[in-house]
Amino acid sequence: MTQSQRRTAVVTGSARGIGAATAVRLAADGLAVAVVDLDEAATKGTVEAIESAGGTAVGVGADVSDSAAVESAVATVAEKLGPPTVLVNNAGITKDNLLFKMTDQDWDAVMGVHLRGSFLMTRAVQKHMVDAGWGRVVNLSSTSALGNRGQANYSTAKAGLQGFTKTLAIELGRFGVTANCIAPGFIASDMTKATAERLGVEWDDFVAMRAKEIPVQRAGAVEDIANMVSFFVDERSGFVSGQVIYVAGGPKA
Ligand code: NAP
Repeated sequence: MTQSQRRTAVVTGSARGIGAATAVRLAADGLAVAVVDLDEAATKGTVEAIESAGGTAVGVGADVSDSAAVESAVATVAEKLGPPTVLVNNAGITKDNLLFKMTDQDWDAVMGVHLRGSFLMTRAVQKHMVDAGWGRVVNLSSTSALGNRGQANYSTAKAGLQGFTKTLAIELGRFGVTANCIAPGFIASDMTKATAERLGVEWDDFVAMRAKEIPVQRAGAVEDIANMVSFFVDERSGFVSGQVIYVAGGPKA
């Protein structure tokens, strides 16, 4: 891909975990990548990893649930890397608790990052996609969308993202934009490490326990999800839209 043909991608929550692996993978695929996360300083590691491999990246600090911050971040990306036409809505948090103990704040925070954040980011980036007559949106759902004890807020948000994806596919298809959703199963990351800690289980024991329930008998790696994102973003994937792919080492959670 020549410099003038190079597309710009925005990956939210890409200072670490699945987002960081995705940013690195899309850069290796030839895209310029905006590494968006809450704290701009935290994006340094991902930006350096991309640049040291010969790619192009810029770190941008923004809270995806804040409308003004999102508008400003997208304008910065357009100015520094060119109009973004790939968006990966990956930023996420968990505030797990059984329903009777879940606070209003636990509910609102999770809805704010996953649902409001994906809405705000997509609304801000879609105009660049429509102008270009080409675009790719990839949303991060979860096997928890099928229901998971202690995650009434998170499972609702992740199920909501599946509906959001299908509607985006219907509305934006005529502009050359696809929208797809990845629902990861158990992936080794800081998020799942925090879950092990909350449950009081040693990380290695937690992974071994979870791997036993997974048909391929291992935990997922962040690169497993980055690989699926790469497929959806690929120029040749333009007839795949409105889909939810469970990347979980088996057919179900
Ligand atoms: P992670 O390691 O916790 O990373 C999440 C990233 O999102 C962090 O860098 C975090 O920043 C950032 N973030 C949080 N709130 C944000 C906000 N308001 N604005 C901008 N960035 C924000 O999580 P992960 O495991 O890589 O998960 C990535 C995505 O995959 C999430 O949507 C998650 O729900 C989904 N997922 C993960 C798994 C799994 O097993 N790991 C399974 C299914 C789905 P801070 O570090 O500053 O908090």
